[in-house]
Amino acid sequence: MNKYKNTAKALLVVGLLAAGLLVLLFVFSLSRQVEFWLFALVLAGIALASLAAILTWGVTRSLDQPINELIKSAERIGNGNYNHQLAVSEDNDLAPLEHALEQMRLKLQQSAINNNYLTTVLDSMNDAVLVTSESNIISKVNVSAENLFGFSSAELIGKPLHELLVPVQRDGQAPATGLADLEESVIRTASGQTIPVSISSSALNSANAEFQGTIFVMRDITDRKRAERRIRYLARFDSLTKLPNRMQFQHLLQQGIARARRAERIVALLYLDLDRFKEINDTFGHEAGDRTLEILSDRLTRALPKEAVLGRLAGDEFAVFIEGIDPQEDERAQSANLARVVLAEISKAFYVQQHELFLTASIGIAFCPRDAENVIDLIRHADAAMYYSKQNSGNNFAFYSPEMNAAAVERLMLKSKLRRALERDELVMLYQPKVDLQTNMVIGAEALLRWRLPGYGDIPPSQFIPLAEETSLILGIGDWVMNRVCEDYRRWMDSINNPGQISINLSLKQLRQTSFATRYRNIFKRHEVSPTSFELEITETTLMQDPKRTVKLLDELFAMGLTLSIDDFGTGYSSLSALQQFPISSLKIDQSFVRGIDNDKGDATIVRTIIEMGKAMGMMVVAEGVETRAQLEYLRAHQCHYAQGHLFGRAMTAQDFLAMMIGQEKGQYQIAALFA
Ligand code: C2E
Ligand code: MG
Ligand code: MG
Repeated sequence: MNKYKNTAKALLVVGLLAAGLLVLLFVFSLSRQVEFWLFALVLAGIALASLAAILTWGVTRSLDQPINELIKSAERIGNGNYNHQLAVSEDNDLAPLEHALEQMRLKLQQSAINNNYLTTVLDSMNDAVLVTSESNIISKVNVSAENLFGFSSAELIGKPLHELLVPVQRDGQAPATGLADLEESVIRTASGQTIPVSISSSALNSANAEFQGTIFVMRDITDRKRAERRIRYLARFDSLTKLPNRMQFQHLLQQGIARARRAERIVALLYLDLDRFKEINDTFGHEAGDRTLEILSDRLTRALPKEAVLGRLAGDEFAVFIEGIDPQEDERAQSANLARVVLAEISKAFYVQQHELFLTASIGIAFCPRDAENVIDLIRHADAAMYYSKQNSGNNFAFYSPEMNAAAVERLMLKSKLRRALERDELVMLYQPKVDLQTNMVIGAEALLRWRLPGYGDIPPSQFIPLAEETSLILGIGDWVMNRVCEDYRRWMDSINNPGQISINLSLKQLRQTSFATRYRNIFKRHEVSPTSFELEITETTLMQDPKRTVKLLDELFAMGLTLSIDDFGTGYSSLSALQQFPISSLKIDQSFVRGIDNDKGDATIVRTIIEMGKAMGMMVVAEGVETRAQLEYLRAHQCHYAQGHLFGRAMTAQDFLAMMIGQEKGQYQIAALFA
């Protein structure tokens, strides 16, 4: 381009010089009176020079125009407008430049399309997405994040993420070490409202250090939390008296004992049972009985000191504990006073349905640590003292003494016999069928243990498993169970294609065994059965004992192909989100709730809510202890996946279960009759 400009300039200079020279010649010729034609020649020269000047001006102008066009285009691109196509000329020195600029525009246009596409995707997500830098400063958010927090993206970007979170105490979980470890938190919105959210995060991996950081995906879990709180409330409080139920009372007592131990104080437990309460129910009806219990719990709540905790443990059984008695004081005198207050309240007349009713009660008192160190023993001892008092005419109280506990002697005896149960081959494995409520087919069974003790009959596991757990006997028993189930399974496979999936119960001590996974892997290998044919049932309480370690172990078992299930769901204290860290595939609704479906609205609600929540979390839901058709109808109406209970079959021998499965394979299933 410059080349043209310079040529034009040179032409101009030459033109001007020529014109100057001709003017000189003209002046010279005038003085010498030269001929006219010479004068004309000079004039033509001047015209030629002017023409050269005009030509130069034209060339310069025609060169500047495409350059200005190029500058305009570059400015448009610089301003982010990539849609204006550039005209690329063919035979022009500027063509390479125009071409390069057009290529650049096209590339920028494509990356802008990609960027918009990504933003559209992010903004279409229902979950809030926040991207942070390595130092947790927010660098990008989507529309859902703006909606969730109530801040605009401009307000969010640049803020440290933790400033938006409310520090919370998470039950059952170790405190999170960093933001990326959080699975759940509470956020504070622009309007100051707090909202519980679930969080999942992943690291942003980029070679470019500037782009490193974390992507957080958050979801409002207010509804889930509300449902969870409701389940927990219904499961912990007695619906009639609104007092803590047995489970909750034991939980509170456990906390009380722990506090008292730290403060070196005494806990007194009063266990009370109404005398002949059954007569009130029988004579005046259950409604009168219920009303009496309501009035009684109101009275006791009012009469007892503030620090006393009252609970309803069963029908007409209540308990009170106080913690923090100074060891210097006379704990017997203090608790005797309390017992007298309770007895006095009970002895006042009850006016129910125009009747005047009179009641008495028997109270047993035990102390921690003197009589027992833990909740279960303390309750058992207070219970024994209550029986003692009742036997001595009732309407009184008694302090526990070791002689009262005849049951304790029996326990000792059983313990010593249990030691020999394995050697003497007294254990028996039974199988209770599990039914798919959609196909009406038996899809497997739960393996349940029995102890056939000569002279005692079948002892249920609830009586001997706790004994076995007190010693390491449970480990031998657990291995025996696993071997026996695998052996039975192998035998079934000789007669039937698919014996279904067998669930096996595990207790805490078994899980704590070192090399547990390896042991089980070897057992499966030895019997040539696949781990995928089995499911392990673990209770909520067991899971939450040492969650970190348990997660590791369960991940290992899961990787082996075993399915994992939470047994007796609803009776524990873990939050659903705490359970989410485990590789669990199914929930078993505790039978105490299933039993209540027919007659307890609260229980029916719990069952329905557990089914809904289990499903929402992608788990299979099993109802256990189904005994009536009404329970079955309810479970079917709420689309519970599987069920188990006396309605479908009691726990049966391995041979009976096989016969049932063979019948089903031949199309003669017994269960189907139930659904007809
Ligand atoms: P679980 O795992 O919750 O088992 C269900 C219990 O409910 C079983 O009692 C079963 O017989 C009973 N059941 C089933 N259907 C019904 C029904 O319709 N109505 C009623 N009222 N009860 C029903 P079981 O066999 O006495 O077992 C009690 C607990 O003992 C089990 O509770 C389980 O935690 C434990 N257990 C059983 N076998 C083993 C075992 O091999 N190892 C370990 N560690 N624990 C076991
Ligand atoms: Mg079970
Ligand atoms: Mg259960």
